[in-house]
Amino acid sequence: MLDGWVCAFLLVLSWSVEVIDASAGDADPRYRGCITQCQETGCIGQRCFPNCKFSSDGEFIDRPWYMQQEPLYLQWKKWDCQGDCRYYCMLDREKERESHNLGPVKYHGKWPFRRIYGMQEPASVAFSALNLAMHFHGWVSFFILIHYKLPLKDGKKAYYEYAGLWHMYGLLSLNSWFWSAVFHSRDVDLTEKLDYSSAVVLLGYSLILAILRTFSIRDEATRVMVAAPLIAFVTTHVMYINFYLLDYGWNMIVCVVMAVAQLSMWAVWAGVSNHPSRWKLWLVVIAGGLAMLLEIYDFPPHQGLFDAHALWHATTIPLTYIWWSFIRDDAEFRTSNLLKKAK
Ligand SMILES: [Zn+2]
Repeated sequence: MLDGWVCAFLLVLSWSVEVIDASAGDADPRYRGCITQCQETGCIGQRCFPNCKFSSDGEFIDRPWYMQQEPLYLQWKKWDCQGDCRYYCMLDREKERESHNLGPVKYHGKWPFRRIYGMQEPASVAFSALNLAMHFHGWVSFFILIHYKLPLKDGKKAYYEYAGLWHMYGLLSLNSWFWSAVFHSRDVDLTEKLDYSSAVVLLGYSLILAILRTFSIRDEATRVMVAAPLIAFVTTHVMYINFYLLDYGWNMIVCVVMAVAQLSMWAVWAGVSNHPSRWKLWLVVIAGGLAMLLEIYDFPPHQGLFDAHALWHATTIPLTYIWWSFIRDDAEFRTSNLLKKAK
Protein backbone atom coordinates (compact mmCIF):
# COMPACT_ATOMS: atom_id res chain seq x y z
CA MET A 1 0.00 0.00 0.00
CA LEU A 2 2.90 2.31 0.77
CA ASP A 3 3.69 2.17 -2.88
CA GLY A 4 0.55 4.10 -3.53
CA TRP A 5 2.21 6.94 -1.72
CA VAL A 6 5.50 6.25 -3.42
CA CYS A 7 3.76 6.80 -6.68
CA ALA A 8 1.96 9.86 -5.50
CA PHE A 9 5.40 11.23 -4.72
CA LEU A 10 6.52 10.33 -8.22
CA LEU A 11 3.66 12.42 -9.51
CA VAL A 12 4.86 15.45 -7.68
CA LEU A 13 8.40 14.70 -8.74
CA SER A 14 7.48 14.23 -12.39
CA TRP A 15 5.52 17.39 -12.22
CA SER A 16 8.58 19.28 -11.08
CA VAL A 17 10.72 17.50 -13.66
CA GLU A 18 8.34 18.58 -16.38
CA VAL A 19 9.07 22.19 -15.64
CA ILE A 20 12.73 21.30 -15.34
CA ASP A 21 14.05 24.00 -17.61
CA ALA A 22 11.75 26.63 -16.26
CA SER A 23 13.15 26.53 -12.69
CA ALA A 24 14.02 30.02 -11.48
CA GLY A 25 17.66 29.10 -10.81
CA ASP A 26 18.62 27.75 -14.20
CA ALA A 27 16.62 30.37 -16.09
CA ASP A 28 19.05 32.97 -14.72
CA PRO A 29 21.34 34.17 -17.55
CA ARG A 30 24.34 34.35 -15.23
CA TYR A 31 23.90 30.71 -14.23
CA ARG A 32 23.57 29.77 -17.91
CA GLY A 33 26.67 31.75 -18.79
CA CYS A 34 28.59 29.94 -16.06
CA ILE A 35 27.45 26.53 -17.38
CA THR A 36 28.42 27.31 -20.98
CA GLN A 37 31.85 28.53 -19.91
CA CYS A 38 32.34 25.50 -17.67
CA GLN A 39 31.46 22.99 -20.37
CA GLU A 40 33.68 24.70 -22.95
CA THR A 41 36.76 25.20 -20.79
CA GLY A 42 36.22 22.60 -18.06
CA CYS A 43 36.79 25.29 -15.45
CA ILE A 44 34.89 27.80 -13.33
CA GLY A 45 37.39 30.46 -12.30
CA GLN A 46 40.34 28.61 -10.72
CA ARG A 47 38.41 25.38 -10.18
CA CYS A 48 38.80 22.80 -12.99
CA PHE A 49 37.09 19.43 -13.46
CA PRO A 50 39.09 16.53 -14.91
CA ASN A 51 35.96 14.86 -16.29
CA CYS A 52 35.25 17.83 -18.54
CA LYS A 53 38.16 16.98 -20.85
CA PHE A 54 36.92 14.92 -23.77
CA SER A 55 40.06 13.94 -25.67
CA SER A 56 38.30 11.24 -27.66
CA ASP A 57 35.70 13.50 -29.29
CA GLY A 58 35.31 12.61 -32.94
CA GLU A 59 37.05 9.31 -32.46
CA PHE A 60 33.89 7.45 -33.45
CA ILE A 61 33.42 8.99 -36.87
CA ASP A 62 35.65 6.55 -38.75
CA ARG A 63 34.11 3.50 -37.12
CA PRO A 64 31.35 1.39 -38.65
CA TRP A 65 27.83 2.29 -37.48
CA TYR A 66 27.55 -0.60 -35.05
CA MET A 67 30.58 0.63 -33.11
CA GLN A 68 29.56 4.25 -32.92
CA GLN A 69 27.87 3.77 -29.59
CA GLU A 70 29.81 5.66 -26.93
CA PRO A 71 31.37 3.43 -24.28
CA LEU A 72 29.75 3.69 -20.88
CA TYR A 73 32.75 5.23 -19.12
CA LEU A 74 32.65 8.17 -21.54
CA GLN A 75 28.98 8.68 -20.80
CA TRP A 76 29.77 8.68 -17.11
CA LYS A 77 32.48 11.25 -17.74
CA LYS A 78 30.00 13.52 -19.49
CA TRP A 79 27.44 13.06 -16.75
CA ASP A 80 30.11 13.84 -14.16
CA CYS A 81 31.19 16.92 -16.04
CA GLN A 82 27.62 18.19 -16.37
CA GLY A 83 26.96 17.43 -12.71
CA ASP A 84 30.10 19.23 -11.51
CA CYS A 85 29.41 22.29 -13.69
CA ARG A 86 25.83 22.54 -12.52
CA TYR A 87 26.77 22.05 -8.90
CA TYR A 88 29.56 24.61 -8.68
CA CYS A 89 27.71 27.19 -10.82
CA MET A 90 24.74 26.75 -8.50
CA LEU A 91 26.90 27.20 -5.39
CA ASP A 92 28.35 30.42 -6.82
CA ARG A 93 24.91 31.76 -7.70
CA GLU A 94 23.47 30.85 -4.33
CA LYS A 95 26.34 32.62 -2.55
CA GLU A 96 25.59 35.72 -4.61
CA ARG A 97 21.91 35.50 -3.82
CA GLU A 98 22.63 35.11 -0.13
CA SER A 99 24.78 38.24 -0.12
CA HIS A 100 21.76 40.09 -1.55
CA ASN A 101 19.55 38.56 1.15
CA LEU A 102 17.64 36.44 -1.35
CA GLY A 103 16.32 32.98 -0.50
CA PRO A 104 17.23 29.76 -2.34
CA VAL A 105 15.68 28.92 -5.74
CA LYS A 106 15.37 25.64 -7.61
CA TYR A 107 17.79 24.53 -10.32
CA HIS A 108 16.59 22.03 -12.93
CA GLY A 109 13.59 21.27 -10.78
CA LYS A 110 15.61 20.64 -7.62
CA TRP A 111 16.55 22.66 -4.56
CA PRO A 112 20.21 23.55 -4.00
CA PHE A 113 21.51 20.64 -1.92
CA ARG A 114 24.90 20.32 -0.32
CA ARG A 115 26.84 17.34 -1.64
CA ILE A 116 28.30 14.88 0.82
CA TYR A 117 30.80 12.33 -0.51
CA GLY A 118 29.58 13.19 -4.01
CA MET A 119 25.96 12.36 -3.19
CA GLN A 120 23.54 14.93 -4.59
CA GLU A 121 20.83 14.57 -1.96
CA PRO A 122 22.49 12.83 0.99
CA ALA A 123 19.45 12.91 3.28
CA SER A 124 17.20 11.29 0.68
CA VAL A 125 19.89 8.70 0.00
CA ALA A 126 20.17 7.89 3.71
CA PHE A 127 16.41 7.60 4.16
CA SER A 128 16.05 5.50 1.02
CA ALA A 129 18.71 3.20 2.44
CA LEU A 130 16.82 3.01 5.74
CA ASN A 131 13.60 2.20 3.87
CA LEU A 132 15.55 -0.54 2.11
CA ALA A 133 16.81 -1.84 5.45
CA MET A 134 13.29 -1.73 6.90
CA HIS A 135 11.92 -3.75 3.98
CA PHE A 136 14.76 -6.21 4.38
CA HIS A 137 14.00 -6.60 8.09
CA GLY A 138 10.26 -6.94 7.37
CA TRP A 139 10.79 -9.50 4.69
CA VAL A 140 13.29 -11.60 6.67
CA SER A 141 11.04 -11.64 9.74
CA PHE A 142 8.12 -12.66 7.51
CA PHE A 143 10.24 -15.45 6.04
CA ILE A 144 11.23 -16.72 9.48
CA LEU A 145 7.63 -16.60 10.69
CA ILE A 146 6.34 -18.54 7.70
CA HIS A 147 9.04 -21.19 7.52
CA TYR A 148 10.16 -21.66 11.12
CA LYS A 149 7.47 -20.48 13.51
CA LEU A 150 4.13 -21.36 11.95
CA PRO A 151 3.16 -24.98 11.29
CA LEU A 152 3.80 -26.29 7.77
CA LYS A 153 1.53 -28.39 5.59
CA ASP A 154 3.06 -31.91 5.35
CA GLY A 155 6.06 -30.42 7.10
CA LYS A 156 7.23 -28.35 4.11
CA LYS A 157 4.63 -25.99 2.61
CA ALA A 158 3.21 -22.89 4.32
CA TYR A 159 -0.53 -22.79 5.05
CA TYR A 160 -0.66 -19.08 4.26
CA GLU A 161 -1.77 -18.83 0.62
CA TYR A 162 -0.19 -15.46 -0.06
CA ALA A 163 3.34 -16.26 1.15
CA GLY A 164 4.90 -16.47 -2.31
CA LEU A 165 3.22 -13.23 -3.37
CA TRP A 166 4.61 -11.35 -0.37
CA HIS A 167 8.12 -12.76 -0.95
CA MET A 168 8.00 -11.30 -4.44
CA TYR A 169 6.70 -8.04 -3.02
CA GLY A 170 9.67 -7.92 -0.64
CA LEU A 171 12.14 -8.40 -3.49
CA LEU A 172 10.53 -5.74 -5.66
CA SER A 173 10.49 -3.28 -2.74
CA LEU A 174 14.18 -3.86 -2.07
CA ASN A 175 14.90 -3.28 -5.74
CA SER A 176 12.85 -0.11 -5.85
CA TRP A 177 14.44 1.47 -2.77
CA PHE A 178 17.88 0.51 -3.99
CA TRP A 179 17.36 2.48 -7.21
CA SER A 180 15.78 5.32 -5.28
CA ALA A 181 18.99 5.62 -3.26
CA VAL A 182 21.07 5.50 -6.45
CA PHE A 183 18.87 8.09 -8.16
CA HIS A 184 19.16 10.50 -5.25
CA SER A 185 22.94 10.03 -5.18
CA ARG A 186 23.30 10.88 -8.86
CA ASP A 187 20.46 12.12 -10.99
CA VAL A 188 21.21 11.22 -14.62
CA ASP A 189 19.11 9.83 -17.43
CA LEU A 190 20.00 6.18 -16.66
CA THR A 191 19.40 6.33 -12.89
CA GLU A 192 16.18 8.24 -13.42
CA LYS A 193 14.82 5.57 -15.76
CA LEU A 194 15.85 2.75 -13.43
CA ASP A 195 14.19 4.47 -10.49
CA TYR A 196 10.98 5.22 -12.37
CA SER A 197 10.78 1.76 -13.90
CA SER A 198 11.33 -0.01 -10.57
CA ALA A 199 8.69 2.16 -8.93
CA VAL A 200 6.15 1.44 -11.70
CA VAL A 201 6.86 -2.30 -11.52
CA LEU A 202 6.46 -2.31 -7.74
CA LEU A 203 3.28 -0.29 -7.99
CA GLY A 204 1.76 -2.54 -10.65
CA TYR A 205 2.71 -5.63 -8.70
CA SER A 206 1.26 -4.33 -5.45
CA LEU A 207 -1.98 -3.55 -7.28
CA ILE A 208 -2.19 -7.20 -8.36
CA LEU A 209 -1.41 -8.24 -4.80
CA ALA A 210 -4.08 -5.91 -3.41
CA ILE A 211 -6.70 -7.41 -5.75
CA LEU A 212 -5.71 -11.01 -4.95
CA ARG A 213 -5.65 -10.46 -1.19
CA THR A 214 -8.71 -8.24 -0.73
CA PHE A 215 -10.86 -10.46 -2.95
CA SER A 216 -9.32 -13.58 -1.38
CA ILE A 217 -8.43 -15.06 -4.76
CA ARG A 218 -6.73 -18.36 -3.97
CA ASP A 219 -7.35 -20.30 -7.15
CA GLU A 220 -4.23 -20.43 -9.34
CA ALA A 221 -6.09 -20.04 -12.67
CA THR A 222 -8.09 -17.02 -11.47
CA ARG A 223 -4.91 -15.43 -10.16
CA VAL A 224 -3.29 -15.76 -13.57
CA MET A 225 -6.36 -14.29 -15.26
CA VAL A 226 -6.28 -11.26 -12.96
CA ALA A 227 -2.53 -10.75 -13.19
CA ALA A 228 -1.97 -11.31 -16.92
CA PRO A 229 -3.57 -8.11 -18.29
CA LEU A 230 -1.92 -6.02 -15.57
CA ILE A 231 1.50 -7.57 -16.19
CA ALA A 232 1.08 -6.97 -19.93
CA PHE A 233 0.14 -3.37 -19.33
CA VAL A 234 2.98 -2.63 -16.89
CA THR A 235 5.52 -4.30 -19.21
CA THR A 236 4.34 -2.19 -22.14
CA HIS A 237 4.42 0.95 -20.04
CA VAL A 238 7.96 0.30 -18.77
CA MET A 239 9.18 -0.35 -22.33
CA TYR A 240 7.44 2.82 -23.46
CA ILE A 241 9.04 5.11 -20.87
CA ASN A 242 12.48 3.51 -21.34
CA PHE A 243 12.79 3.10 -25.07
CA TYR A 244 10.31 5.51 -26.60
CA LEU A 245 9.48 8.51 -24.49
CA LEU A 246 9.64 9.28 -20.78
CA ASP A 247 6.35 11.12 -20.81
CA TYR A 248 5.98 12.46 -17.25
CA GLY A 249 2.34 13.44 -17.74
CA TRP A 250 1.31 9.99 -18.97
CA ASN A 251 3.43 8.23 -16.38
CA MET A 252 1.66 10.34 -13.76
CA ILE A 253 -1.78 9.21 -14.95
CA VAL A 254 -0.69 5.55 -14.92
CA CYS A 255 0.67 5.92 -11.40
CA VAL A 256 -2.38 7.77 -10.06
CA VAL A 257 -4.82 5.20 -11.38
CA MET A 258 -2.84 2.24 -10.02
CA ALA A 259 -2.22 3.95 -6.67
CA VAL A 260 -5.78 5.13 -6.09
CA ALA A 261 -7.13 1.71 -7.10
CA GLN A 262 -5.06 -0.22 -4.56
CA LEU A 263 -5.38 2.31 -1.77
CA SER A 264 -9.14 2.34 -2.01
CA MET A 265 -9.21 -1.45 -2.16
CA TRP A 266 -7.22 -1.80 1.08
CA ALA A 267 -9.23 0.95 2.74
CA VAL A 268 -12.62 -0.55 1.81
CA TRP A 269 -11.41 -4.01 2.80
CA ALA A 270 -10.21 -2.68 6.17
CA GLY A 271 -13.68 -1.23 6.61
CA VAL A 272 -15.72 -4.32 5.78
CA SER A 273 -13.53 -7.23 6.89
CA ASN A 274 -13.20 -8.42 10.47
CA HIS A 275 -9.43 -8.75 10.18
CA PRO A 276 -7.89 -8.46 13.66
CA SER A 277 -5.14 -6.13 12.39
CA ARG A 278 -7.24 -3.87 10.21
CA TRP A 279 -6.24 -0.87 12.34
CA LYS A 280 -2.73 -1.24 10.94
CA LEU A 281 -4.16 -0.81 7.44
CA TRP A 282 -5.99 2.33 8.54
CA LEU A 283 -2.89 3.68 10.21
CA VAL A 284 -0.75 3.25 7.11
CA VAL A 285 -3.39 4.80 4.82
CA ILE A 286 -3.99 7.82 7.06
CA ALA A 287 -0.40 8.44 8.14
CA GLY A 288 0.74 7.95 4.56
CA GLY A 289 -1.81 10.52 3.43
CA LEU A 290 -0.69 13.04 6.02
CA ALA A 291 2.95 12.49 5.11
CA MET A 292 2.01 13.29 1.53
CA LEU A 293 1.35 16.87 2.67
CA LEU A 294 5.13 17.16 2.96
CA GLU A 295 5.39 16.53 -0.75
CA ILE A 296 2.77 19.17 -1.52
CA TYR A 297 4.27 21.70 0.91
CA ASP A 298 7.62 21.53 -0.84
CA PHE A 299 10.06 23.56 1.27
CA PRO A 300 13.78 24.15 0.53
CA PRO A 301 16.45 22.09 2.32
CA HIS A 302 17.38 23.05 5.86
CA GLN A 303 21.20 23.28 6.10
CA GLY A 304 21.27 22.25 2.43
CA LEU A 305 20.22 18.74 3.50
CA PHE A 306 16.68 18.15 4.76
CA ASP A 307 13.97 19.19 2.32
CA ALA A 308 10.33 18.16 2.29
CA HIS A 309 11.01 15.20 0.02
CA ALA A 310 13.76 13.81 2.26
CA LEU A 311 11.51 14.11 5.33
CA TRP A 312 8.77 12.36 3.41
CA HIS A 313 11.14 9.45 2.75
CA ALA A 314 11.86 9.47 6.48
CA THR A 315 8.17 9.07 7.37
CA THR A 316 7.77 5.95 5.23
CA ILE A 317 10.40 4.16 7.36
CA PRO A 318 8.11 3.57 10.41
CA LEU A 319 5.14 3.02 8.06
CA THR A 320 7.06 0.23 6.34
CA TYR A 321 7.57 -1.39 9.73
CA ILE A 322 3.82 -1.30 10.46
CA TRP A 323 3.02 -2.55 6.97
CA TRP A 324 5.22 -5.65 7.32
CA SER A 325 3.83 -6.23 10.78
CA PHE A 326 0.35 -6.25 9.20
CA ILE A 327 1.58 -8.80 6.64
CA ARG A 328 2.92 -11.03 9.45
CA ASP A 329 -0.37 -10.71 11.34
CA ASP A 330 -2.24 -11.68 8.20
CA ALA A 331 -0.10 -14.80 7.82
CA GLU A 332 -0.80 -15.84 11.43
CA PHE A 333 -4.51 -15.02 11.11
CA ARG A 334 -5.00 -17.04 7.91
CA THR A 335 -2.91 -19.94 9.19
CA SER A 336 -4.87 -20.24 12.44
CA ASN A 337 -8.18 -20.01 10.50
CA LEU A 338 -7.10 -22.79 8.15
CA LEU A 339 -5.93 -24.98 11.01
CA LYS A 340 -9.26 -24.48 12.82
CA LYS A 341 -11.13 -25.53 9.70
CA ALA A 342 -8.92 -28.58 9.26
CA LYS A 343 -9.78 -29.85 12.75
ZN1 LIG B 1 12.80 10.18 -3.52
